[in-house]
Amino acid sequence: MRPQPHSYRSTRERSLDAMLALLELRGIHDRCVLAAMTVVSREPFVETSDILDAYADHALSIGHGQTISQPYVVALMLQALELQGNEHVLEIGTGSGYSAAVLSQLAAHVYTVERDPMLSTTARARLAALGYDGIDLMCGDGSLGWPEHAPYDAIVVTAGGPTIPQALVDQLAIGGRLVMPVGSRESQYLSLLVKTSAHDYTITDLGAVAFVPLVGVQGWSEPA
Ligand code: SAH
Repeated sequence: MRPQPHSYRSTRERSLDAMLALLELRGIHDRCVLAAMTVVSREPFVETSDILDAYADHALSIGHGQTISQPYVVALMLQALELQGNEHVLEIGTGSGYSAAVLSQLAAHVYTVERDPMLSTTARARLAALGYDGIDLMCGDGSLGWPEHAPYDAIVVTAGGPTIPQALVDQLAIGGRLVMPVGSRESQYLSLLVKTSAHDYTITDLGAVAFVPLVGVQGWSEPA
């Protein structure tokens, strides 16, 4: 095997180390989340022009007006799910497939739904080419969940909505955890919902975030 150019390797390693240090500094303490984000390279999920910025702590464009979330927000959401490794997890907003790949390292099975057919097709091909298994993808309106595989032990929504869709609460197992940005189209608070019984849940606010809109029947209407 030809050695990788020294400058590329060291740049990548330095960027990854800086990302991990920042995550810890900002309160990400779950060793499994940090390990998963070390194992899953971000480069294949970002646009070629952004490769050198792949580990920078800001969102990057993935085309079609959508973004791959900044590492800190991905880590915050996944840490809040408190996964042990045996869960079935539903993700709404496949996007590039990056957070689904990270989730696949933390749970038994990942179901992920994307409304944009091009993004969904690209993510499917990318995840297969990279060899990630244990991930099922569907193209459709994730504000309605994916009822066929419910209940889910955890649900993560990577797009912001006006409220937490009732369909998702219904598809969450009792004791399950759901994380979703809730607020306006432009800015939201990250909400953690824990389902305590068939009809009860608690909600905790994890801080301010800015996600692209969840567009669907139980989200926002299509932009004009
Ligand atoms: N998790 C992604 C980032 C997603 S950005 C990653 O790691 O790259 C949010 C995504 O949610 C966008 O791709 C957008 O098209 C998608 N989205 C918006 N509304 C949706 C809906 N109702 N159902 C499924 N996906 C939706």
